[in-house]
Amino acid sequence: MQEIAKQLQSLLGPRGCLDDPNDIAAYTSDLLALKTAAPVCVVRPATTAQVAAIVQYARKSKLAIIPQGGHTGLSGGAVALNDRDNDSDSVILSLDRMTAIREIDTNDNVMIVEAGAVLANVQTAAREAGRIFPLSHGGEASSQIGGNLSTNSGGNNALRYGTARDQVLGIEVVLPSGEIWNGLRRLRKNTAGYDLKHLFMGAEGTLGIITAAALKLRPAPSYRETAFVALAHPQAGLEFLRLLQSHVGEAVTAFELLSDTAISAALTLSRVRFPLQTRYPWCALIEADTPSSHFDISGAIEEALSGALEGGMLLDAVIAQSETQRDEFWHLRESIAFAMIEDKSALLSDTAVPVAKVAAFISRAEAVILQIVPGARCVPFGHLGDGNIHFNVQRPEDMSGDTFKNHWPDLLDAIVKVSLSLGGTISAEHGIGRTKQRIFSKTSAEVELNLMRALKAAIDPDELMNPGALF
Ligand SMILES: Cc1cc2nc3c(=O)[nH]c(=O)nc-3n(C[C@H](O)[C@H](O)[C@H](O)COP(=O)(O)OP(=O)(O)OC[C@H]3O[C@@H](n4cnc5c(N)ncnc54)[C@H](O)[C@@H]3O)c2cc1C
Repeated sequence: MQEIAKQLQSLLGPRGCLDDPNDIAAYTSDLLALKTAAPVCVVRPATTAQVAAIVQYARKSKLAIIPQGGHTGLSGGAVALNDRDNDSDSVILSLDRMTAIREIDTNDNVMIVEAGAVLANVQTAAREAGRIFPLSHGGEASSQIGGNLSTNSGGNNALRYGTARDQVLGIEVVLPSGEIWNGLRRLRKNTAGYDLKHLFMGAEGTLGIITAAALKLRPAPSYRETAFVALAHPQAGLEFLRLLQSHVGEAVTAFELLSDTAISAALTLSRVRFPLQTRYPWCALIEADTPSSHFDISGAIEEALSGALEGGMLLDAVIAQSETQRDEFWHLRESIAFAMIEDKSALLSDTAVPVAKVAAFISRAEAVILQIVPGARCVPFGHLGDGNIHFNVQRPEDMSGDTFKNHWPDLLDAIVKVSLSLGGTISAEHGIGRTKQRIFSKTSAEVELNLMRALKAAIDPDELMNPGALF
């Protein structure tokens, strides 16, 4: 083991390879408190050429590679687990030294960034250039572009801009063969053969290491409206979303559905103020924006809100009067995710159903959960605009965390069963990683799994890349 670390240190320099347990602890802990295994060492390349050199070395030494970005993933994809045979003899390859924003071109509306660039820094750089990079979610302060593309993350603005893969024009990848594929094209149209870049997005590091990306920039909005509204039930949320879109079209960027149990969890964790006079069973945080001064977005939103209030579709509504108030709305929303991660016995799920089925999904899931664990607290919330509801479940107050965790497999199976019966998926944005494999293989069509395995075998025949994740 020490010999391997020594050889990698000579390839990468002392900062490029860590093997002291104190130094690698930060790379092996897991947000979900999964029991992780120590890798042989953590390698931290500074260039694409160094990534390729590590892969070539790992091939020769029969070492597996676990790519790691900002380490905010919620399915155990970026760490080895200590109860798994196939996670042994691995190195964690962290992209945390490859953070450069190589270029911003506002004529092509493209920016070229290294994979280790933190999402929040990419957003800031785009803003400073008079554009936006719209991908945004609760993990943005630490998650990296490479991790976002590898999980095909979604987040708050997928309703308008799509998921991570929709933000990409080209990528650079180090393949399991050790070759570098420079696919950093900045073309808006290209029908020359298979669109290979999409293979690596959502692949969770199982097909290669993304080292850089050419990302799309979008016009920066100049006018924005943010509102917090109360609803009697989720179906009213969908009706309001459609009403809103009939007023402002594609200007709606976010529509976050929040159950009152989710709001309670957030308010317990953070000191943020609840924005309405009284509590309601359901709320939604909505946002719309435009770069155009010719479009009266405030007037259109106010008209939609007053129509919905008069017709009973909404029970209450408040429009943010300042950036500070807008930040408070969003802080409340993001605190839900943090509160759920903080509660180590809470079951997290990441399903999506067709948007029109969200209300049915929530009521059916709640019914089956309460049959399995009476008194369990259902905490659904999420991105209503794209059907992605995090149906999380907290233990009954009089049940211990360990007892509740014994029910996790049955609860997750039940939630997934409801989602699939409505044409949904088991994972909409967090990926399969090492925590959802059982249910992934159990619920996927054989023909799909075989296609995925055939791709894996063609690109990574020695199973060098992130073994134990996905399959
Ligand atoms: C509070 C909170 C809220 C969140 N909200 C959302 C949300 O709304 N939407 C959402 O989609 N996610 C959300 N997440 C989850 C997480 O932030 C995303 O999954 C993110 O994309 C992970 O990026 P990362 O850089 O941290 O990747 P990591 O966790 O380090 O890795 C994730 C996976 O990608 C692989 N990988 C990482 N970098 C590379 C690379 N360069 N090349 C190849 N493979 C790589 C890893 O091997 C692993 O399989 C949230 C997380 C937190 C903590």
